[in-house]
Amino acid sequence: MIVAMQETATEEQIDAVIEAMMEAGVDVHRTTGKMQTILAGVGPTAGLDLSKFEVLPGVLHVHRISSPYKLAGRAFRPEGTVIEFAKGTPSAVTLGGRQVHVIAGPCAIENREQIFAIAQCVKAAGAHFLRGGAFKPRSSPYSFQGLGIPGLELMREAAEAHGLLTISEVMEIAQIEPMLPYVDCFQVGARNMQNFNLLRELGQVRKPVLLKRGIAATVEELLLSSEYIMSGGNYDVIVCERGIRTYETSTRNTMDISAIPVLKKLSHLPVVGDPSHGTGRRDMVAPMARAAVAAGADAILVEIHPNADKAVSDAAQTLYLEQFEEMMAELRLIATAVGRTL
Ligand code: PEP
Ligand code: MN
Repeated sequence: MIVAMQETATEEQIDAVIEAMMEAGVDVHRTTGKMQTILAGVGPTAGLDLSKFEVLPGVLHVHRISSPYKLAGRAFRPEGTVIEFAKGTPSAVTLGGRQVHVIAGPCAIENREQIFAIAQCVKAAGAHFLRGGAFKPRSSPYSFQGLGIPGLELMREAAEAHGLLTISEVMEIAQIEPMLPYVDCFQVGARNMQNFNLLRELGQVRKPVLLKRGIAATVEELLLSSEYIMSGGNYDVIVCERGIRTYETSTRNTMDISAIPVLKKLSHLPVVGDPSHGTGRRDMVAPMARAAVAAGADAILVEIHPNADKAVSDAAQTLYLEQFEEMMAELRLIATAVGRTL
């Protein structure tokens, strides 16, 4: 159930409603928007008489949530989620607002020279997020599996040298704690979108989580997975379209651009488009990045490398630094055309 409070509702009135909901046996998740407070009641609400909440002082309206995801649904935060990174520091940025962000970096952190060269380029191009895999979910066990924590140390150092934020994939619960000092945002990869134990544990963390769509997952399944994180109290979830498996073979995956406006409509969570994994082809990355921004993405995630064709992981889809700079200029034009900044 969703209880929307009146704009004029007092804290006492809000507390009284929360108490009444808890007495009825539901878990209450509160969101305080600019205009009003929304209380989502999650739990056994089927037999509840909602009219008794409707008449409580300060309540505007009460309704049942018909979608299977309660906290990820638009109704919980009608104005959209804006995630604040590095609040109060010179690297502070918000994701989910008017500004479109670009998250760029190598598929895998390889060595010091590589990640520092990339960080410099990311900064110079005006992007704010440095990505790099340290724990790599490779299709083959014989492929490079990532540098682990020493790789993250290098990325953190490179990011700090250039005032960038960091994001890296977490593959299992045991990696969360050791990764905490090095990442500003956790990434959950496509292969782990339904690793529910990992998602639940990330619900206990107070750092944003970028959740990628599974290769054969529906939009609804993606949002249900985000619900696992949010139900633990971590509302800073970003969802990512990174291409799905279809019968088409001319691209590595089929990038579902339509998922972007669908997600924006169904959910309040910021949406990222990843045209690198979405296409698997360097020459298709910029066009699909442009399409994603035009379709309303809040951020774009791309893989870049100074020696792109020699990258140890995902070389074919990795942009050269010059291509990245060019793409950034194009994305700025598109962002402006759709009323955003970059
Ligand atoms: C990645 O970002 O490098 C990655 C492994 O992505 P995905 O989980 O989308 O395949
Ligand atoms: Mn990759």
